[in-house]
Amino acid sequence: MITVLRIGHRPARDKRITTHVALTARAFGASAIIIDLHDSELEDNVRSVVDRFGGDFQISSGVNWRRYLEDSGAVKVHLTMYGIPVQDCIDNIRQDASRKGNLIITVGAEKVPGDLYGVADYNVSVTNQPHSEVAALAIFLDRYNHGDELSARFEGRMEVIPKARGKEIRNRVGNSITTTKPKRKD
Ligand code: SAM
Repeated sequence: MITVLRIGHRPARDKRITTHVALTARAFGASAIIIDLHDSELEDNVRSVVDRFGGDFQISSGVNWRRYLEDSGAVKVHLTMYGIPVQDCIDNIRQDASRKGNLIITVGAEKVPGDLYGVADYNVSVTNQPHSEVAALAIFLDRYNHGDELSARFEGRMEVIPKARGKEIRNRVGNSITTTKPKRKD
C-alpha cells in the first residue's frame, strides 16, 4: 500500500496545490493521503472526485506527521531536491517496500523540518533542481510503478472515454449508463 504524507499544509494558501497533490497521488497509484493540518473543505473536494471517478482512495487530515511516520513500520521516502536521484534508488525502495508491505512518500509545502531528513529511510530527488511537489510525486510514482498506473481502471460512476478530439463521458446511474458525447462543430 502506498500512502502520501503532505506536511506543511496551510489551509488558507495551499488548498489548490494540496488538492493537486491528492489527485496526483490517486491517479498515479497511491491508496491514501494524510495531511498534517485539518482541512475539511479539502477532504470534501477530494472525496467528491473519488465518489464520481471511482477507486477507494482515502483522505484524512489533522494528523501528527512525526508520530504517524515513526509508528508506521513502513518504508519512508521523503521527496526533496537535496536527496539521492530517484533513478539511483528506486529499485532498492521497491524491494524494501515489497518486504515491508507499506510505503509512505512525504512531500513538503514550504521548508520542511530538518529532522524529517533523519526520520526518512530514503531522501529522494527528482532532479536536484527546485520545482513542485506535484511533479516530484508524479514522476516518483511513475518510476515506482514502472508506468503500469497509466492504464489503471477506476470503475467510477463517471468514466472518460478517450477521444482524439472533443469530450466523452460515460455516466452510470443505478443500472443505466448514459453517454455524454462531444458536441459536433458544424
Ligand atoms: N524551499 C523548499 C525547501 O527547501 O524544502 C522547497 C519547497 S517545494 C515548493 C515543496 C516540495 O516539493 C518539497 O518539500 C519537496 O517535497 C518537493 N520538491 C521540490 N523540488 C523537488 C525535487 N527536485 N525533487 C524532489 N522533490 C522536490
